[in-house]
Amino acid sequence: MNICVVGVGYVGLVTGACFSEFGLRVTCVDNDDAKIDMLKQGKIPIYEPGLTELVQKNMKEGRISFTTDIKAGVGNALAVFIAVGTPPDEQGRADLRYVEEVARSIGQTMNGYKVVVTKSTVPVGTGKLVERTIKEHQSEPYPFDVVSNPEFLREGSAIEDFMRPNRVVIGAESQQAVAILKDLYNPLYLIETPFVITDVATAEMIKYASNAFLATKISFINEMANICERVGADVHQVARGMGLDQRIGSKFLHPGPGFGGSCFPKDTRAISQIAREHGYEFRIVDAVIKVNEERADVMIEKIVAALDGDVKGKVVAMLGLAFKPNTDDMRESPTLPIIRGLQDKGARFQAYDPAGMEHAKEYLQDVDYKSDAYDAAKGADVLVLATEWNRFRNIDWDRMKQLLKGLVVVDLRNIYDPERMRASGFTYISVGRP
Ligand code: NAD
Repeated sequence: MNICVVGVGYVGLVTGACFSEFGLRVTCVDNDDAKIDMLKQGKIPIYEPGLTELVQKNMKEGRISFTTDIKAGVGNALAVFIAVGTPPDEQGRADLRYVEEVARSIGQTMNGYKVVVTKSTVPVGTGKLVERTIKEHQSEPYPFDVVSNPEFLREGSAIEDFMRPNRVVIGAESQQAVAILKDLYNPLYLIETPFVITDVATAEMIKYASNAFLATKISFINEMANICERVGADVHQVARGMGLDQRIGSKFLHPGPGFGGSCFPKDTRAISQIAREHGYEFRIVDAVIKVNEERADVMIEKIVAALDGDVKGKVVAMLGLAFKPNTDDMRESPTLPIIRGLQDKGARFQAYDPAGMEHAKEYLQDVDYKSDAYDAAKGADVLVLATEWNRFRNIDWDRMKQLLKGLVVVDLRNIYDPERMRASGFTYISVGRP
């Protein structure tokens, strides 16, 4: 079967590559010429483990191709996936202009029955908008179905998440469309992945409900960390004690600098705004957002306190910039407000991130980018661990001691052992631990 994926970002490229690995012929379309040129040469514009190998292999075997010509992509395809961005607008609503643009192009270029599948995260009602837009722009009234198939992959483990998801959600009003989607996802059906087949509006809502709930767990444990610090309890043991209860589960109970990335901040604001537009205050999610927005200040306070209240002229060595390990994605990374806030107070930054530094340059000013953790530590007054890349887990602390000016470590991800750090002679500060 031929399919087309429009929008070749983190989601679209992984979707296209994985479907081609399933044996489908995939045309990936993007309106970014530079991106498509790179991809045509087998170069991958994002950092995602395993993606280069998967794309190159399927290119060689002739199952995946790249173009800026949407007509070519849509013309050959039975199913067209929309995977363009839905960034927040000024009110926090999902900006649907790219989705609408693609729907218009699909309408103008379709040449027979198509299943149009929205993979982008979109508010309830977008399925209807896509349907209307396509109808308005068709040259002839070709039949088509609109399906919602939200994506749950995580950057950094995107291929594994796509290939072995916890579930596949298909929202459709037509049996034919459901049958085509089931056919596309057949390899996942064979490994007994649960399929949730529902209507379009419910599928659209499942994505927001899932992200809002995960964000709630993060803000909850971050609030617990604040309380633990005040009462002298250890938030890790609290999280473990809670998480072993199967009704709660241990995932997403790690305290830290707050959630970031291109999904949770945007999707929590969007669902709050969707509720408000329908006359409802989503109080829990509003609190989750507020707690998260305050996280940067809580982290800044820790770092300022570690420097005895005075950061002016002090050098901070920052390990990690991306919003999580194994990605280069800097969108809404919690490191951004922390760095900017401390720069406002006069601190200087030496930073290292294995993949995020190029993108970080688009967001940050006056940061001295270094070649590794040790290079970043040279002459610094404090070392801040901000993103828990594996390579930061086994630091040679004896070597660090020689390089740092101040023997102070602020661990925003709690990856080091407090006893060992203190025994090694460091002043060690973490999150939610006495
Ligand atoms: P992205 O910004 O990485 O990629 C979007 C791509 O769409 C870009 O390459 C852009 O050039 C292209 N594009 C925009 N308008 C276009 C047009 N008219 N024609 C062709 N291409 C066009 O975005 P992303 O992170 O992949 O997210 C895409 C969607 O998936 C969003 O709705 C997001 O919320 C959702 N989502 C993202 C993730 C994630 O981890 N990134 C996970 C699940 C869902």
